[in-house]
Amino acid sequence: MAVIKTKGLVIRETSVSDTDKIITLLTEDCGKISVSAKGAKRPGSRSGYGTQIFTYGQYVLFKGNSTYSLNGCDTITQFYSLSSNLEGFTHAAHMIELASDAASDTQTTALVLNLLLHGLNALVKGRNPLLISSAFSIKLMQILGFPPHMTSCALCNTTEMETLHFSFAQCGILCDNCAKQAENTILLEPGTAKAILHILCSDHSNVYKFELSPDNLTALARIAGRYVSERLDKQYRKLDFLREIDFKYHY
Ligand SMILES: [Zn+2]
Repeated sequence: MAVIKTKGLVIRETSVSDTDKIITLLTEDCGKISVSAKGAKRPGSRSGYGTQIFTYGQYVLFKGNSTYSLNGCDTITQFYSLSSNLEGFTHAAHMIELASDAASDTQTTALVLNLLLHGLNALVKGRNPLLISSAFSIKLMQILGFPPHMTSCALCNTTEMETLHFSFAQCGILCDNCAKQAENTILLEPGTAKAILHILCSDHSNVYKFELSPDNLTALARIAGRYVSERLDKQYRKLDFLREIDFKYHY
């Protein structure tokens, strides 16, 4: 049995008995893995704190043939304070679901984890959750190899565009001429287009560092939500509750 040390974020806890649980970790070195945490639910357990959802820590694991079990953990950061903020917590849960779906091979998972940690940090600092999860979604698509085409018309390649249209079918912006013949396009304000470009061109530590007017943010969120849902072929429902209680989610 090999001993492995890796940093990771707990994205799920599943109870298996009164004393034991299985945690799902997004790790820097081993991809997305399930880890058996025996005794972690016992009162006063040394690993109890470090195996809670939203914990980022250093984990020491035993690797069996196809399973991992927890030997020890040291907490680096706890994002659990997000649970006292309904909006921030809901967006964090949405981002974790996206990250979990996007985590495939070891290298991709490490990139997704890094982007997610910067996003959770921004949420903890009180940044606008809708902006953070929208930027996360678009950057995540770039990591997976599906960046929207934003530097010229996605159909005719012209860079001379009076107005910008976003096409979901073409995965990018269209000029006026091409937009006339395309279906499913939406008008894109320059501010929103600039924000998408910023997200695509920034490294993970800067990707969330921008501001947007409420209208442009709504447009960004609408594009990010639909774009990610179409690329990953899944309806994401975590934000639906916010749509019931807050009109700014009516997009
Ligand atoms: Zn065109």
